[in-house]
Amino acid sequence: MKAGDVLGHEFMGEVVEVGAKSTLKKGQRVVVPFTIACGSCFHCGKHQYSACPNGLPADNQDIARELYGHEMSALFGYSHMTGGYAGGQAEYVRVPFSDVGPIVIPDGVEDDKVLFLSDILPTGWQAAEYAQIEPGDTVAVWGCGPVGLFAVQSAFLMGAERVIAIDHFPHRLELAKRFGAETINFEDSATYDALMEMTGGIGPDAVIDAVGLEATGCSSTTSSIRSRRRPFSAPIGRIRSAKRSSPAARADACRCRRSTAASSTSFRSARSWKRG
Ligand SMILES: [Zn+2]
Repeated sequence: MKAGDVLGHEFMGEVVEVGAKSTLKKGQRVVVPFTIACGSCFHCGKHQYSACPNGLPADNQDIARELYGHEMSALFGYSHMTGGYAGGQAEYVRVPFSDVGPIVIPDGVEDDKVLFLSDILPTGWQAAEYAQIEPGDTVAVWGCGPVGLFAVQSAFLMGAERVIAIDHFPHRLELAKRFGAETINFEDSATYDALMEMTGGIGPDAVIDAVGLEATGCSSTTSSIRSRRRPFSAPIGRIRSAKRSSPAARADACRCRRSTAASSTSFRSARSWKRG
């Protein structure tokens, strides 16, 4: 980051000006995803918008290659590694390739209903989808921040019979309960033992890690570049899912959760493990 940078990598607003090639119209309300993708390159052709390099200046591609091993797409308000584009915490935002990313919101739909369409909701949904939830499943969700709470709701929508939400903030657990989840406060009880007790000694059918950045054990982007020891441990969001099909898979699922190396990001593909 540099002094004067404007943060905010997902946002919504009203179109006030359009470029010559934009398909948007003045007055439309749009939710703007954080990826700045061209819509016409190899990756965009495969809907891999987070890998589109065409919005990212060459110097910034070097940083991304150093950190991730490959260039990535430009992002709004998300450091100079992702292009240094000004983000959405502002009165006006310039949106390149505006005919590719923005989602036009129909009249009559309130802002609050769609604000999370470009991130947070899809992140939680994706985690639940990767967990391959089947009707009747019991799903455990680690972390009850906004993404975790959306993962809880997504799991129910995909047919989960029970969702067990795990956190240590009472107000978060209370929110999870409102969405129908059972809860474990890991400061009050041992998570593994509580899960086993709640599932008759079987364990959950699928688990989702929605903890995001851990407060400890995660180096800064700069030190990651220097050390190269943990090239994916940048301070960014993370989601993982795992589906159980055997006791061995359960053991792996626990290991997945604890690993801090190779954390995926919310704007690239989430990690999942299919068992069996
Ligand atoms: Zn592209």
